[in-house]
Amino acid sequence: MLDAALATWPEVKDFVREGRIGLLPVGAQEQHGPHLPLATDTVMATGFARRLAEALDALLLPALPYGDAWNNEGFPGTLSLSPETVQRTVEDLARGVRRIGLGALIVVNGHFGNREPIALAARELWRESGFPVLCLDYPGLESLADEICASAPAAPTFYHADEVETSVMLALAPEAVRMERAISEYPVFPPTFGAEPMQLSSFCQSGVFGNSRPATAEKGERLLEGLTAASVDVIRTFLARHGLVRAKNSEEKPS
Ligand SMILES: [Zn+2]
Repeated sequence: MLDAALATWPEVKDFVREGRIGLLPVGAQEQHGPHLPLATDTVMATGFARRLAEALDALLLPALPYGDAWNNEGFPGTLSLSPETVQRTVEDLARGVRRIGLGALIVVNGHFGNREPIALAARELWRESGFPVLCLDYPGLESLADEICASAPAAPTFYHADEVETSVMLALAPEAVRMERAISEYPVFPPTFGAEPMQLSSFCQSGVFGNSRPATAEKGERLLEGLTAASVDVIRTFLARHGLVRAKNSEEKPS
């Protein structure tokens, strides 16, 4: 793999060849309770994307550290981009990845609010040039969280500043986690949640959704390992669908 943020242009030139792909982590600057930093989604997406870049021998792009975090603006520190800005930014970067000669872009999304803008960006690239863009949203997380974590999420598939995110942060950036401030909150979701625009601060006190206390680095490591395995499968299927030479894990024997 090559870390594009630290690489020189001749290194990128040598790295780009048939079958090589780019990985773009997309995060957010968003509240994550009293115990996790505002950059949690960016740290998680970047750490996860680095593992994928190693497994797939891909170009790891610098993360986009902002996202559409509108519904957490009720908590100080959250800074949000409009969905249009997220979409256009991903489109511009995907065009650049295409221009330098990579075969596809995998967007490693760490924040729920970015899903729709990224999907629209992928659609736009497909429409204008046929360039393949895959939106990766922690595939397999629900069953992994169910198997590895002790506490239930506050709502199905809703993981925010809880045992899942806190564990992954303990595995990736333990120095950034204030475990002494980790708490449990199970907010009651209003019946119209998801059906109307709503600030999360209107029904959640702390910004924690679920129980962050049982989090451990060991659970975070298991979550990351499971997510990496599931994602590599999804990415290989995607590359095969587009007739791209499949990236091989360095441990695999050539067939
Ligand atoms: Zn998060």
